[in-house]
Amino acid sequence: MISVRHLNKTYHDPDGTSLAVLKDINCEIGPGEVISIIGPSGTGKSTFLRALNLLDPPTGGEILFHGENILAKGYPVHKMRQKIGMVFQSFNLFDHMTVAENIMYAPVKILHESKDQAREEALSLLRKVGLTDKADVYPSNLSGGQKQRVAIARCLAMKPEVILFDEPTSALDPTMVGEVLSVMKQLAREGMTMLIVTHEMKFARDISTRIFFMYDGYIHEDGTPAQIFDNPRRSATREFTQRIRREVFEIDGPGFDFQGMYSTMAQFCIKHDIATARERVESLCELMINDIMSAYRPMTVRINYKEIADEASLDFMVEGLEKSPVGSTDRLLALCREVVEEPTSRGFRIKLIL
Ligand code: ADP
Ligand code: MG
Repeated sequence: MISVRHLNKTYHDPDGTSLAVLKDINCEIGPGEVISIIGPSGTGKSTFLRALNLLDPPTGGEILFHGENILAKGYPVHKMRQKIGMVFQSFNLFDHMTVAENIMYAPVKILHESKDQAREEALSLLRKVGLTDKADVYPSNLSGGQKQRVAIARCLAMKPEVILFDEPTSALDPTMVGEVLSVMKQLAREGMTMLIVTHEMKFARDISTRIFFMYDGYIHEDGTPAQIFDNPRRSATREFTQRIRREVFEIDGPGFDFQGMYSTMAQFCIKHDIATARERVESLCELMINDIMSAYRPMTVRINYKEIADEASLDFMVEGLEKSPVGSTDRLLALCREVVEEPTSRGFRIKLIL
């Protein structure tokens, strides 16, 4: 459906410097494919999506849509834009229009549908995204998750063949991410062709037929979710997909700010959507720091989240310690899944897997 050949994009600053953002992008996207584009920020993911529907025209290369080069002079760009829809991080709804009017606007204006027909379709799309009762309210009365579902309905109203999503859940409160992802999963099941820039690794793994790992202006690695997440061929891919998020605390003496640590840990759990862990984190820390290991100072405490495995853990580490001070693990295992007691290069670590 889409072939991209030697696509590149360079930004030129007025002061004469230039920045090559897309260097040589090549890929083929077939109908019904769901491709997640992942990678560190600043590597050109948004620029690539915006180039595909010419919001941000590339500086070189070719984009073939059904075999025709959309960069060729005279190509009907407005027709292509109807077929390649886009959903943004920031929703971009019209605030002075109701939800239904937002969805009807382009079909009436561009596809010349009658208002009755467009409204009927808008209502059916709202049913699809689970917002039947919101047709006549204004966007300002909706939550972020609801706004994004309206934005998806508005995009679907143009009957696109492909939808490009640029971090559709990044601006949302964590409690609202799931409702948007589940609408996207439904679209994927129905066979919609989708390109999704996302930081939601579990979602990308579940939903995608292929993953593009973007790095330094290239598609650095392209493969199935199993390859990219479990068996990446290139080291930059491995570093990115297997990364661990963590917060580290050094407990040295009686002046340590426990409230500060617990509040950082709670934020961490909210951010990574590990709410079930959150309730146990404080109890486990209390038990380890003030009871089982109260004699061991200084101590380093870490909360970790391995995104792709969806695994959260707590580490308690003491330098120079040669064996575990834990003894019976019963009290810990009442609150966590596994206790791993292991020497490190500089001491000893007790890891509690939540
Ligand atoms: P990503 O979406 O992967 O985070 P982007 O595609 O947004 O990355 O940006 C890639 C690079 O291009 C960044 O270094 C960014 O600063 C630069 N860039 C993006 N848009 C512009 C622009 N309009 N002018 C100049 N530089 C830009
Ligand atoms: Mg981006």
